[in-house]
Amino acid sequence: MGLTAKSTGLGAVDQGLLIQKQTPADRVIALAGNPNVGKSTVFNALTHMRQHTGNWPGKTVSSAQGVHTFHQTNYILVDIPGTYSLMAHSQEEEVARDFLCFGGADAAIVVCDATCLERNLNLVLQTLEITPNVVVCVNLMDEAAKKGIRIDFESLERQLGVKVVATSARQKQGLTSLMQQVEALFGQSGPPNACQVRYLPAIEEALAMLIPVLTPYVQNRLPARWVALRLLDKDESLCAALGRFLGLDLLKEPPVAAALEQAHAHLQNAGIAQQTLRDKIIACIVLCAEGICADSVFFSNPQHQARDRKLDKWLTSRKTGIPIMLLLLLGVLWLTIAGANYPSALLWQGLYWIEGHLTNLFAFLGAPGWLHGALVLGVWRTLAWVVSVMLPPMAIFFPLFTLLEDFGYLPRVAFNLDNRFRKCGACGKQALTMTMGFGCNAAGVTGCRIIDSPRERLIAILTNNFVPCNGRFPPPT
Ligand code: GDP
Repeated sequence: MGLTAKSTGLGAVDQGLLIQKQTPADRVIALAGNPNVGKSTVFNALTHMRQHTGNWPGKTVSSAQGVHTFHQTNYILVDIPGTYSLMAHSQEEEVARDFLCFGGADAAIVVCDATCLERNLNLVLQTLEITPNVVVCVNLMDEAAKKGIRIDFESLERQLGVKVVATSARQKQGLTSLMQQVEALFGQSGPPNACQVRYLPAIEEALAMLIPVLTPYVQNRLPARWVALRLLDKDESLCAALGRFLGLDLLKEPPVAAALEQAHAHLQNAGIAQQTLRDKIIACIVLCAEGICADSVFFSNPQHQARDRKLDKWLTSRKTGIPIMLLLLLGVLWLTIAGANYPSALLWQGLYWIEGHLTNLFAFLGAPGWLHGALVLGVWRTLAWVVSVMLPPMAIFFPLFTLLEDFGYLPRVAFNLDNRFRKCGACGKQALTMTMGFGCNAAGVTGCRIIDSPRERLIAILTNNFVPCNGRFPPPT
């Protein structure tokens, strides 16, 4: 049977709202995934809606919901914000995590990008820690085929312990299989045997101290292992959300507080300081994702991968990363400033030539001097000046900037500069918004939405004005 979908009046869901089922038989399905993996495309194709929910930091974070009917069952699909992790660094991550934990979802579809599955599996593995009721949707299969990437789905399913479906959502391929697997989740006798990341022995031992103490408090409402991990990690925003959900502050419960203290002391004795714990947790997740992909994802041109990694070493190493970055960015600036002089001069000559003819026209028509002054010497000349000074540098700078983005170089710039910016209380992504400020401060300021922390975002917005945008470059002589 094909897909039948009906769109209801449901729209944006307020942050933290529990989804109300229309009938008890309805299923709530969370649609999770990294940004730009085609989550909204899957959502729109299934619900016949046209959601375009931007979810960058600073914008009110909301999740769209719509209904998809499959084999007479209503599936309420909730498109939660795109996020790379559930460790709650940003508002999006918090919303996504809270919806998966407390939003009343019966299952989750985690949409992944087939062209960079390894990175996407980090979110899959984190979601599996919260719920085993997951179907993994590997989207953009058409792009992966173009890049010569082959995925062994059997191996992927075996290692993840949950169903994995290949889709090309833009072409509406694979969506029926996706819904069949979602439906099958509810038909099976028990939850899937989902893969759980194994952490370093000391972390596992600390978890073993906490889990039995936490189980009576969380019962089967949340996985005790995941709650234990978050408590060990001192995830304050989760503790607050947990308090609201369970109706008690776990940290104030004497048995939990005592076990947590003991677990932290154990980690300390094993040489894992609190500040490094999260890095170690993330490293284990990344290693697990790498291991899974090593057995399941194949490239038709492995040399291409090796070349990529070699290039990455050059572009991000301590010795060569910064000089290469300076050379590239200076090159872009030089091309912009020097290159723009020629089209600027030509444009100015052309527009000035038109001004002469406009003056002649006004004289021919016998227009008064004040009208000629206001329209030709005022409006036209200002417009001609702004266009000839600003258009050519923008027309050169932004395509070059886009090229750097397309080659994947910009995240490396942020990585190279992150430490230095952190020392100033800012973040590495600010390097990108500042560079963009050379093209246009307005674009630089709006681009600051990529910065997660509100304080660092404000710093980036306020300081962007100190970058001279090309409107402030000297005019051609
Ligand atoms: P989201 O940020 O995860 O919600 O991603 P979107 O649904 O907005 O999709 C990001 C881009 O990927 C859009 O341009 C989509 O048209 C495109 N896209 C989505 N699915 C596919 C697919 O299966 N194949 C290809 N080639 N493009 C896709």
